[in-house]
Amino acid sequence: MVTSHKVKKVAADAVAFLEVLDTAGVILASDNEVINQSSKALAMGLVEYSKLTNSELQELVDLARAEKSSKSAELYFSKNLRAAKQFLAARATMLSEELVILLIEDRTEAKRLEDTRHDFVENISHELKTPISAISLLAEALQMALNDEEQLKKFAQSLQKESKRLGSLVTRIIELSRIQSGDLAGDVAVLDLGNIIAEAVDANVVLADRAGVKLSFEAEPGVLVEGDGELITMAIKNLIENAIIYSEANSQVGVGLKVEGDFAEVTVIDNGMGIPVDQQERIFERFYRVDPSRSRDTGGTGLGLAIVKHAANNHGGEVTVFSRVGLGSTFTLKLPVYKQTEEGADQ
Ligand code: ADP
Repeated sequence: MVTSHKVKKVAADAVAFLEVLDTAGVILASDNEVINQSSKALAMGLVEYSKLTNSELQELVDLARAEKSSKSAELYFSKNLRAAKQFLAARATMLSEELVILLIEDRTEAKRLEDTRHDFVENISHELKTPISAISLLAEALQMALNDEEQLKKFAQSLQKESKRLGSLVTRIIELSRIQSGDLAGDVAVLDLGNIIAEAVDANVVLADRAGVKLSFEAEPGVLVEGDGELITMAIKNLIENAIIYSEANSQVGVGLKVEGDFAEVTVIDNGMGIPVDQQERIFERFYRVDPSRSRDTGGTGLGLAIVKHAANNHGGEVTVFSRVGLGSTFTLKLPVYKQTEEGADQ
């Protein structure tokens, strides 16, 4: 179809306007031929050979035209089979008698956050249910066993174990939500990483003793980082705790600190059970455990490494793992080394 000069001008003006907004826009003539699109729309790959590539978007345009009103929809879109799916919010509106403008916003990130939050709440409810129902069953059992001292003792011990588990789960959930909000409002300061590690090692001495694991620590002195000391201690503590828990008696756990380029590297090495390669990425997800029953037995919550990962990210660092089943694991926490500025030098 031949589009008049005037119509083309309207389309060009609308697209010029869209270029300054965050929204992608496509303008279609009455035969659904795309006569103009914004650079964002072009980058998203919404149009090919002057037609919309996505049938849902086309249906939205048809509907707006048929009903002569503005229509909106949310949909998943991917440029091609290999491209990641995007979550789009689209709105089709008549721009003139002939033209329809399709406005598209990429909501992928917002949707991901919303889904993550939703999953988190579901996971939490599920994880909390287990100890809560165990506690309620044990309380019932206690009542039935009032005349049997042996049984009473056994149930009371289990009750204590379950309530402790519940307590640590709740504490970790609170810690994780604080970290996930990216909140470093805690006290940000310049920290001597060696001191922080020493504190995390100390906090695990009793656990190591009880497990019969030898804990050693060697550090390059004077390594400074900037951040929330409480968070970094918690992250390192979690790594050491795992190294002990997932090791056999008479094994060793070594903690080290060195500087590589711009990063301080804290390594926690064990020669314990190791982690299958195909699960090494997943262990940083909340509530993911390689062996759920072992983790529960040892009082694990499945949140320790998620906390480490978020603490690392919040500080501009990262955590990585190298592990082989039966040989052991090495976790490395990298944090940017603090660089003294002129101003900071004489503080
Ligand atoms: P958990 O509270 O279950 O230990 P984490 O988030 O700390 O939760 O760890 C997730 C899972 O990763 C654990 O359940 C365990 O299967 C595995 N894991 C973590 N650290 C180690 C390690 N040092 N050696 C072997 N497996 C480990």
